[in-house]
Amino acid sequence: MGNEFKEGTLDLANFIIEDLKFTVGDNLLKCVQCGMCTSTCPGAQHSNYNPRDMIEKILKGETSIIDDEDLWYCFYCYTCHSTCPVGNSPCQANQVLRQIKISRGEADAHLRPFLGFGYSFLNNGIGGIPSNFFPEMREDIGEDWWNFKCDLDDIRENLGLGPVIPPKETIDEVSTILKQAGFEKRLEEVKRIKDNEKVEKSTE
Ligand code: SF4
Ligand code: SF4
Repeated sequence: MGNEFKEGTLDLANFIIEDLKFTVGDNLLKCVQCGMCTSTCPGAQHSNYNPRDMIEKILKGETSIIDDEDLWYCFYCYTCHSTCPVGNSPCQANQVLRQIKISRGEADAHLRPFLGFGYSFLNNGIGGIPSNFFPEMREDIGEDWWNFKCDLDDIRENLGLGPVIPPKETIDEVSTILKQAGFEKRLEEVKRIKDNEKVEKSTE
């Protein structure tokens, strides 16, 4: 199915319902606009993001919601998913909307900070917090977290646990799957845009 939807119809709602990421089917259509999702949403507490409003726009076929920058304040905690009285999932609806933007190549600015996550899967076979996040996390969470992180290998060894990074054959398997699926190519595209922007900035 394409990414273009007719205003004022259920095209967008049906597109979301049919998406593999959306696991709650037509519960999307049962939204009673109670606002429980927004009242429990941590993203909404710290931004203008409003999951109830997002669902209302989806159901009204207001496709401008796809371009709403506030959607990017959802961080997929799934609180709305577990509290919605009709079993709807604003969280997953948000994921489908963002994917539409990503597929159109209009969300690279939002993806760039997470390039490190992608390369971690590719190179280590598992996800990992990108190192560019560390300084802020250290400031926000504190020195205890930082010390724990620095000592993690020793802590794991003392507990008789293996290293965090999986064995080479596992990494190779994951890496092959990601390459075949076009994941590496996509990472390189986002990285190229990022690098070009850096060059443009330095020549201004
Ligand atoms: S909690 Fe569920 S029913 Fe209530 S507004 Fe949000 S999505 Fe709709
Ligand atoms: S998953 Fe997103 S929309 Fe749902 S409660 Fe968490 S931040 Fe809010």
